[in-house]
Amino acid sequence: MTPIIEFKNYTFKYRSQSEPTLREIDLTVNPGEKVLIVGPSGSGKSTLVHCINGMVPFSYPGESSGTLTVGGKDPAKTGIFGMSKIVGTVLQDTDGQFIGLTVAEDVAFALENDCVEQEEMFRAVDEVAEVVDIKALLGNAPTELSGGQKQRVSMAGVLVDDVDILLFDEPLANLDPATGKRAIDLIDRICRERDKTVIIIEHRLEDALYRDVDRIVVIGDGRVVADMTPDELLASDILIQEGIREPLYVTALKHAGCQVAAKDHPQHIETMNLEPYQEKVRDWFEKVSLPEIQGEEKPALEVLDLDFSYITGKPILSDIHFRINKGEMLAIVGKNGAGKSTLSNLICGFIHPDHGKILLNGSDIADKSI
Ligand code: ADP
Ligand code: MG
Repeated sequence: MTPIIEFKNYTFKYRSQSEPTLREIDLTVNPGEKVLIVGPSGSGKSTLVHCINGMVPFSYPGESSGTLTVGGKDPAKTGIFGMSKIVGTVLQDTDGQFIGLTVAEDVAFALENDCVEQEEMFRAVDEVAEVVDIKALLGNAPTELSGGQKQRVSMAGVLVDDVDILLFDEPLANLDPATGKRAIDLIDRICRERDKTVIIIEHRLEDALYRDVDRIVVIGDGRVVADMTPDELLASDILIQEGIREPLYVTALKHAGCQVAAKDHPQHIETMNLEPYQEKVRDWFEKVSLPEIQGEEKPALEVLDLDFSYITGKPILSDIHFRINKGEMLAIVGKNGAGKSTLSNLICGFIHPDHGKILLNGSDIADKSI
């Protein structure tokens, strides 16, 4: 198979830097592959993206040696516009990428540039809007969208050109965990159904691995440090050595003294063969004891049988009961709308419980001013 992207002994130095940012890169990506690139901040991941899409050297001048071929072309000779027919890039900061006044105009931009007939343009925009689920947003201004919606508009903008290669530079950066999962799912679907070659750059490894990738390439200080399957990489210590966070369950297994093996498929905890690790994890769990409570156990704040509703008959908090000792640190977690802020407003005395008590250092806050 002819590779669609091929770096051969490729070195690049930005004009304004004294040392090369990318060093002796050898990297091959085949058509239809889905490759995840990870590496700490400043390791050169975005620079790699800029080399593939022609931003280097046209927007970011510098010197390169070795060779780079993308879709049979040399990006440094083909130019940004020429490369945009082969490679679509969704940047980390999508805000800088919007051009149109409405979502529809923005998505159509590449087609307008190519003087596509209006009728065909409407059809093409409609089709990609369907793929990334933004049909309802076509009339909105890009600026009034949420982070996840903006990203889908950016994706539509590159898909409309029917490019072969899609580059995603930190697609999860501005997304909450649930929206991030949807984005990874969408990227996966586009890769499979539309037969694209996909490169995802991301340091949130556990989130990025929500859907399978073929390979993970680790970049460290401008060099390719590893290029292997997710299973092989997670079984190694390369991520820790390079300062990248492993998925939490892998860290936990290693902490319990387990040697994680690639053959047990550690890529997803749901499908990993955990059998060989059970005994060690159980032993560790039984041996470990909670840290001793430091100092005296003196309640600072007590919440007793608390009920609260903004509207009668629609309870927000029911039967909340907990105690915090002096010097303790506590995290209250819950999804949007669960009542976390309502609880803090009650503790601050901004609003008052329907039932129950809040004691501060043993005395009821109902009698105190704010
Ligand atoms: P990453 O995406 O892995 O965080 P980058 O590719 O953005 O890393 O940056 C790698 C190195 O290249 C950094 O040391 C950075 O300062 C340098 N660099 C990035 N962009 C430019 C630029 N436009 N001009 C000069 N140096 C740059
Ligand atoms: Mg970057």
